[in-house]
Amino acid sequence: MADLPHSPPPAGSDVAETSSRLREAHAFDVRTGLQPRALRRAFADHLHLTRAHELSEATPYDRYVALSHAVRDRLVERWAKTQRTYYERDVKRAYYLSAEYLLGRALWSNLQALGIHDAYSSVLADIGVDLRQLVDVEPDAGLGNGGLGRLAACFLDSAATLSLPVTGYGIRYEFGIFEQVIRDGCQVERADEWLRFGNPWEIERPEHVVPVSFGGVTERVPSRQGGGFRMIWRPEQQVLGVPFDTPIAGYGSDTVNSLRLWSSRAGQDFDFGLFNAGDYVRAVEQKNQTEVISKVLYPNDNFEAGKELRLRQEYFFVACSIADIIGRFNRTHADFRILKDKVAIQLNDTHPAIAIAELMRVLIDEHLLPWEMAWEQTVGAFGYTNHTLLPEALERWPVALFERLLPRHLEIIYEINRRVLREVQITFPYDEERVRRMSLIEEGPERLVRMAHLAVVGSHSVNGVAKLHSDLVRSRLLRDFSELWPERFNNKTNGVTPRRWLSACNPGLSELITEKVGIDWITDLDQLRGLEPSADDPAFLARLAEVKLENKWALARLIQEELSITVDPASIFDVQIKRLHEYKRQLLNALHIVALYVRSKQGEAVTPRTFIFGAKAAPGYRMAKLIIQFIHAVAEVVNGDRRQEVLRVAFMPNYRVSLAEKIIPAADVSEQISTAGMEASGTGNMKLAMNGALTVGTLDGANIEIRDAVGPENFFLFGLDADQVEAKRRERFKGITACEADPVLREVVSLIASGFFSPEDRGVFQPLLDAILGVDPYLTLGDFSAYAACQRDVEKAYADRSGWARKAALNIARMGTFSSDRTIREYGREIWGVEPVEIEIDAPLSLM
Ligand SMILES: *Cc1c(COP(=O)(O)O)cnc(C)c1O
Repeated sequence: MADLPHSPPPAGSDVAETSSRLREAHAFDVRTGLQPRALRRAFADHLHLTRAHELSEATPYDRYVALSHAVRDRLVERWAKTQRTYYERDVKRAYYLSAEYLLGRALWSNLQALGIHDAYSSVLADIGVDLRQLVDVEPDAGLGNGGLGRLAACFLDSAATLSLPVTGYGIRYEFGIFEQVIRDGCQVERADEWLRFGNPWEIERPEHVVPVSFGGVTERVPSRQGGGFRMIWRPEQQVLGVPFDTPIAGYGSDTVNSLRLWSSRAGQDFDFGLFNAGDYVRAVEQKNQTEVISKVLYPNDNFEAGKELRLRQEYFFVACSIADIIGRFNRTHADFRILKDKVAIQLNDTHPAIAIAELMRVLIDEHLLPWEMAWEQTVGAFGYTNHTLLPEALERWPVALFERLLPRHLEIIYEINRRVLREVQITFPYDEERVRRMSLIEEGPERLVRMAHLAVVGSHSVNGVAKLHSDLVRSRLLRDFSELWPERFNNKTNGVTPRRWLSACNPGLSELITEKVGIDWITDLDQLRGLEPSADDPAFLARLAEVKLENKWALARLIQEELSITVDPASIFDVQIKRLHEYKRQLLNALHIVALYVRSKQGEAVTPRTFIFGAKAAPGYRMAKLIIQFIHAVAEVVNGDRRQEVLRVAFMPNYRVSLAEKIIPAADVSEQISTAGMEASGTGNMKLAMNGALTVGTLDGANIEIRDAVGPENFFLFGLDADQVEAKRRERFKGITACEADPVLREVVSLIASGFFSPEDRGVFQPLLDAILGVDPYLTLGDFSAYAACQRDVEKAYADRSGWARKAALNIARMGTFSSDRTIREYGREIWGVEPVEIEIDAPLSLM
């Protein structure tokens, strides 16, 4: 790529002036310049040359692709320079390994990162093209299920914005999270063909393909050095990993990091045996078998189905990534004793935890390092982030499956286990029960490999994602390990990127904030504190309310368009958007809607409220799907009842990042009502509070820290805390007990049991009641009365319009700490040991 000319001569000289004018003239013609003329030209060229269309005949999709290419061109130079700088300065790098990245759309973020969103807006307006409309054409990159994948996406944004040398690794699923459609009130899944029309943001790098092995046997062979033996792996199958790179542009920095996603492809000579036997068709079939690895994202959130293909996916992307990392290290270093000084690897949950055994295998088997040396480097390099305490979400793979798929890795895991358990015995003599609990292998009818234990023993850092969660990881889930290695355990409370979740999604509020505190809040969210004095300024509060009302109108129009439901923007917009899970308790919200409906039918005054839901259920999760059906049944009754005007229920289908961006700015109330102790952190709670919604929440995950930050008087708290939940669960609390004490709840339950919400089939919702009236594992009924009382406080507070606006203002002002910039700074300093790297682009931005 063309470097812009030379360093400038001394300022003030004639030469300097001529040269600067020359550069400016030159810059105007630079193909990747940021001046309006260059922007206009680039868009026209890509429409014409890349899409082969004239403006008049181009579809909105053509225009989106042309614009995306024009924007990508402007990232390329910075991208190459960033990677070159890391290499030349030989900086320590961090690698983020995640099976999921829930990126959403890229066009607007990249325009924003380059600071050319306004310029392009007007350039396009001049030729009759509406930029906001083009932005809406882009399909979401939905390579994740929910919070965990979205966290990875926010982290990449923050790392690039902070100029940190971080690379993301993952899987290029051909089909991301399914598209949800609703038929007769039930969820139906459709394949997410996000790559159908191509993806202008990715660049395929077939030259960096990596072979990955599976199956076969291991063999003991005499070692060439000394008299010992060493193991070699004779695999049975080989797959190729092809990398696709996506640029991750820092906001207002010249850093452009990479997200490298691996796609599986069959080796060219897939099965010689079959070819030679003349079975050409079977050989090609087998090719499909290997290419299927990166085909589809498993659609479970907080649940592991234990499928063989899933383990193949995990090892596939881990093996590719470790080969890439070691290959890059090897190009400039010969001594593996400094590996951990140059490489940090973060495991986003246990999905990539096999990387620990893989790095050991590469160091020992391929580079012939002694065990102790390899282990020191491995533990020094790895960090592990735990995302859940739910037992059904903890990965445990059958030893037999491991043996068949990854025989060498199983041997390495056994050896790791032998050494760790010896250390346990020495530290805690005569405690065989402890040894059994801490083993990497769970003994039972089926022997299982405990991936969380592998992750902990192979990492120098183990973190949870909110204070409460990290405490529970230490004191409950991994207590034995925290007693052995207390120094490894730490907390990194999650955050979200203010670029996407405030600046981009809520331009009205952003403008108001900028007017008050200047523009720096976008990269320094603590500056929102500067809004605090305005919380007592009636004029400011009026404008804040006005912005909220405008956002509510926009969402009301969308609800009208998509669902043909008319909602009143003057009503409370009460939002619960997140994956559907029993522990998240959408059912509690729905039961409360029924209670309000009953109250209003009985002639009680109920504050007008619009309940907005967005949630996908895992396709195999029957109870979750039934809850979606129940919400629709309640919506049908409530919305269809002409004799009440106060309540509306809108379930917006296909909840995803781009839909979240439209709902969040319009929310008055944020429902964060998980059973205490079960939501590791939550990040939806942060996005909503940052946009001025008031939280109705339990003492769970980051809710606790949000409440501490915004002040308890600006947060609606209810329900049992984690210890009380634990106690109730131990005594096997029954939901029916709660009904006995609460007549409203009794009425709600009997109305549902009567078949009122399912006249066609009166029994359909009985399983819902059965799941809570008996042993109520999520305390849905145990928390109902407290929840309903809390919602009455919400009504009272909303009646005081300026009081409400004041609370909203204080929420916004005090949410600075929940920027993922803060989180990533902590990871960078306390876990990875990476420093910001200034990227110097050869010409100043203003001249390009
Ligand atoms: C933020 C986000 C989530 C996580 O929401 P929680 O309420 O924290 O569970 C899930 N899905 C999408 C699309 C998101 O943007």
